[in-house]
Amino acid sequence: MTETRTPQQLWEATLGELQLQVNKSNFHTWLKGTVGLRQQEEKLVVGVPNTFVSEYLERNLRSLIEKAITQLTCHSLQVQFEVNSTAAAISFRGESRRKAISPQQGALPLFNPKYTFDSFVVGNGNQLAYAAALGIAENPGYSYNPLVIHAGPGLGKTHLLQAIGNFALSHGLRVLYVSAEQYTNELLTALREKKTEEFRSKYRSADMLLVDDVQFLSGKEQTGENFFHTFNELHNHSRQIAITCDQPPKNIPSIPERLRSRLEWGLITNIQPPDFDTRLSILQTKAKEKGADVSSDVLELIALQIFRNIRALEGSLNRIIAYAKLIRSKVTRELAAEALRDITGNEAKAPPPTPALIVEAVVSSFQLTPADLKSRKKDETTVLARHVAMYLIRQETDCSLAEVGRELGGRSPATVSHAYQKIAEDLNTYPSLQHKVFEIRQKLYSSSITAIPQSFR
Ligand code: ADP
Ligand code: MG
Repeated sequence: MTETRTPQQLWEATLGELQLQVNKSNFHTWLKGTVGLRQQEEKLVVGVPNTFVSEYLERNLRSLIEKAITQLTCHSLQVQFEVNSTAAAISFRGESRRKAISPQQGALPLFNPKYTFDSFVVGNGNQLAYAAALGIAENPGYSYNPLVIHAGPGLGKTHLLQAIGNFALSHGLRVLYVSAEQYTNELLTALREKKTEEFRSKYRSADMLLVDDVQFLSGKEQTGENFFHTFNELHNHSRQIAITCDQPPKNIPSIPERLRSRLEWGLITNIQPPDFDTRLSILQTKAKEKGADVSSDVLELIALQIFRNIRALEGSLNRIIAYAKLIRSKVTRELAAEALRDITGNEAKAPPPTPALIVEAVVSSFQLTPADLKSRKKDETTVLARHVAMYLIRQETDCSLAEVGRELGGRSPATVSHAYQKIAEDLNTYPSLQHKVFEIRQKLYSSSITAIPQSFR
């Protein structure tokens, strides 16, 4: 059976169908601005603006889309999503993706489509937090308000908070996700530019507000007070609020008392480090997500040795895969054991790198001095070294953007964020930079590690 329509005509007809089946917010966020590129035998290739959209469609809407095409053409076609600049141009011309886009400049999607309830592995330590998060996502504003999730680093707070967001967004809610740090920066900008009314109405208009890492408000009196008012306005209108924190609200030092008591109004839930079975099942999920062929005895080996932090668990898996690629070997148990000996040895022995140690490693690799990095010098080498330092401090420590900026001669959080993104992108493009960063990390962990680059993919 031949299709007489062009790929774009066919796709437009499909979009017409989908518009009836997908809610408005979802349609605008994920489908508007996509284009029909070409048809190859049993496949329709659809251009999308970026990989986030591609991954989201792949994961959540593919089968619905294929059904719609089948209905239209009376025979089945597969769809394939491809990142394409035409789609990007169309998508960014309209304001339609705003809702799912970062409150800062519209540059980054608000939600990582990978962080869903489906991709969250439920186990002993996190089942209550999971149930509570799902509860408010399904029934926002009714069950417990606010929901507070607290846990140590790398245990899934952001993942759960974003899962709530992704879920609510797909049900047409106006969801705002913001880290407490971003909230603070936005407020300061609004105050400076005398745009506090806009700031206020932006946050007041949300159906759901998700604030990550609220401990950041500690000691920031003005932001704490401001957030108290935002909180009240939303809460009074039964708008759902969920927050995460690295400790229970009662322990956060220096936040306004009345904000603290508000945070204790709803449900406070905690995530504990995962047990062995949960660790193993998380590793299986992650290996599958990456399409990596890693045998279960290797995964068990990792699960046995890394137990406190899921980010580290995932990081170890990544390192092992990257290491295998680097030396062009299969991921064997021996290779994994060797790589893990370095990683766990490093975690046990060496103190975690501090900003100062990172600066030292960077300057020695670029043959500069720490003073150069903190100075206003703008020659190519110094600028690159400074950016690499910003990137590594952000990657290897828990420093906030502002702290990184202070460490490097009083740069603004926006400058740090920009530098971070630039290096992260350039690492994908320039092998020489990859090598440099690899070398610096090696220095950083040199006492015990034949380092495997963390961000090697
Ligand atoms: P936190 O915000 O608590 O520091 P994150 O939510 O960023 O931690 O989680 C760190 C990493 O671990 C993320 O890649 C996340 O997807 C993953 N992760 C955490 N918990 C789980 C889980 N239960 N199932 C699957 N992945 C998880
Ligand atoms: Mg987090």
